[in-house]
Amino acid sequence: MSVSCPICGEGTETISIFESGIRKPLHVCNRCIIAWEEKENGLGIHLLQTYAMAKDLDDDAYYELLKRISDYESRGVPKLCDIMSRDVVTISRDKSAHEAAKLMADRRISCLIVVDRDGKPEGIITSGDLVEKVSVPKRDPDKVKVEEIMSSPVITAEDYTNIIKASKIMREKRIKKLPVTEKGRLVGIVTVTDFAKASPEYLEKIASNLAELSDTFRFFIKKEREENSGRR
Ligand SMILES: [Zn+2]
Repeated sequence: MSVSCPICGEGTETISIFESGIRKPLHVCNRCIIAWEEKENGLGIHLLQTYAMAKDLDDDAYYELLKRISDYESRGVPKLCDIMSRDVVTISRDKSAHEAAKLMADRRISCLIVVDRDGKPEGIITSGDLVEKVSVPKRDPDKVKVEEIMSSPVITAEDYTNIIKASKIMREKRIKKLPVTEKGRLVGIVTVTDFAKASPEYLEKIASNLAELSDTFRFFIKKEREENSGRR
């Protein structure tokens, strides 16, 4: 019996592989370049196989593949590109601390993303870094370079990442700002407060991840619990 690909609906080709000493069938969709394995509740993506097959792809094709898998696995959960701010201010590592401070003051923001020539994030610099690493030790802000005081490497996520997964990353890494990339290039930024834009059905899942990082979400969780106990 032919199995159709859950993503594109095309027929798949069935191959069999050995895994942990057991022969198991995989259904390969040559259009999506995804191998599906039979699981209890239907077909699931076989990651090792996907990776092995994806290795021959160029960057664009590989990005499209990961995006397709992420879309499929997220099943309608909003993505970072749905909630991110595209207005992200950048600076290069060779600029001075003074230039960084001036840029933050002009734009009324508290952080800058440090990017390389290709627009790939290399670090992040906050107003706190300027205070702690320049003002307090009384260093000359014209002589200190951004690269000396930035936090690097910086944790980023691709724009197709679903917001529940992203909130987990932020909790695990204890970060309040997450630069968003497309094929590795900076395209936006998401802060803890941006997650409040999510609809109520997702908000609760996100709030438990972000409560450790933000008063807003701590308050949300507390209120939610009170309402639930009131209903009982
Ligand atoms: Zn397919």
